[in-house]
Amino acid sequence: MNDRTRFNLSENDLPRFWYNINADNPLPPTPVLHPQTMEPVTPDFLNVLFPMELILQEISTERYIQIPEEVREVYKLYRPTPLIRARRLEKLLDTPAHIYYKHEGVSPTGSHKPNTAIAQAFYNKISGTKALTTETGAGQWGSSLAFAGKLFDLDIEVYMVKVSYNQKPYRRIMMEMYGAQVFASPTNRTHYGRQLLAQHPDSPGSLGIAISEAVEVAATSGGAKKYSLGSVLNHVLLHQSVIGEEALKQMDLAGEYPDVVLGCVGGGSNFSGIAFPFLRENLRSGRKTRLVAVEPQATPSMTKGVYTFDYGDTARMAPIVKMHTLGHNFVPPPIHAGGLRYHGMAPTLCALYDAGLIQAVAVPQLATFEAAMQFANSEGIIPAPESAHAIRAAIDEALDAKLKGEKRIILFNLSGHGNFDMGAYQDYLSGKLQDYEYPAAAVAEAMKDLPQVPQAA
Ligand SMILES: *Cc1c(COP(=O)(O)O)cnc(C)c1O
Repeated sequence: MNDRTRFNLSENDLPRFWYNINADNPLPPTPVLHPQTMEPVTPDFLNVLFPMELILQEISTERYIQIPEEVREVYKLYRPTPLIRARRLEKLLDTPAHIYYKHEGVSPTGSHKPNTAIAQAFYNKISGTKALTTETGAGQWGSSLAFAGKLFDLDIEVYMVKVSYNQKPYRRIMMEMYGAQVFASPTNRTHYGRQLLAQHPDSPGSLGIAISEAVEVAATSGGAKKYSLGSVLNHVLLHQSVIGEEALKQMDLAGEYPDVVLGCVGGGSNFSGIAFPFLRENLRSGRKTRLVAVEPQATPSMTKGVYTFDYGDTARMAPIVKMHTLGHNFVPPPIHAGGLRYHGMAPTLCALYDAGLIQAVAVPQLATFEAAMQFANSEGIIPAPESAHAIRAAIDEALDAKLKGEKRIILFNLSGHGNFDMGAYQDYLSGKLQDYEYPAAAVAEAMKDLPQVPQAA
């Protein structure tokens, strides 16, 4: 028992329910506002973009929501995912801490993102949707939705940030293999894209711009197309809860309970996925696990951003939500963790952070890649640069435990593998990577452009 490394569950242990944090969340929900009227949005407004089943999940306070059998069947392609004790990393660090990681990189597309892509494709399919639009940065989300769309026979249209489209062709080819159409954003397919290209013909694009394009295409399709988002929203956090539910059972198999649970945060979905079931145990069973969100120092929306109302996208077409934000016009420094370059953060996660139920730390790029190298050279897996942020913070916890002579139980989410990220690792190995100072001036500038939301909201 004492030398076990992998803690595997059987297909029968695959969760039958998603866990909804909003059943146990002691905080009132913050309103979602219409981008023009700034009034709370109606289900009708949201229904232009999302099928009703997902809108109901978005506002639900039911504790457990049944996972449809059709979705569980697809989950079985890769779930339950392994929980692994990082014995070789522990040895390398010479730490008394025990380090465990949940390996979401074993999914067909290599990250946690299919957990929600499959569910969203399913609910769209049964509501009669024929096509979905979405955005993608480096391509993790786009390839996951393309995969799910293929399985549920939906046309998928992906707006991919132009700089990634040109620099990272392999993810684009993957999406095309699954039958998706991929466009370099900004495109001339949308009103917003044309307007932007007229002013900035060489725009490299951004996630905020690509969201605006994907939203515009769905909103002006006369109901033919809906829009899909891979993070931030409550229904996405809900679908990701399978990660933490499995991890709870697996930690039980290991005979230990984590003192600290860590995950990287871009929009907040993989961290919420592993952390919220443990937060439930904190809130309902008196457990005291620390839950730590890890973000890049270059886009520190939680540790440095302001907790206020802001648009979800650059063109102000997406709803206004209360979140920790760096400003919807903020263009993040070009760090290699493309999935973490977003100006905002999931509103539910932000509310919990604001209330002190969740903690956050920011880590610099170079130290993050050093942690990735230590992990690859001990555990063998090359992590996604995003996931390496969680590894950095987990190693820091293990070193702190060593300093204090403590046996600390550490669990982190390995949100994805980095096998498509060789360009980033090449830059690291050839000494081309740099750290970025916190871009205080750019954030201050972007902050001038926050929406003036009426007091009542
Ligand atoms: C997209 C992505 C992230 C960031 O998104 P979250 O919603 O914060 O989880 C993290 N890791 C990987 C591997 C990703 O693909």
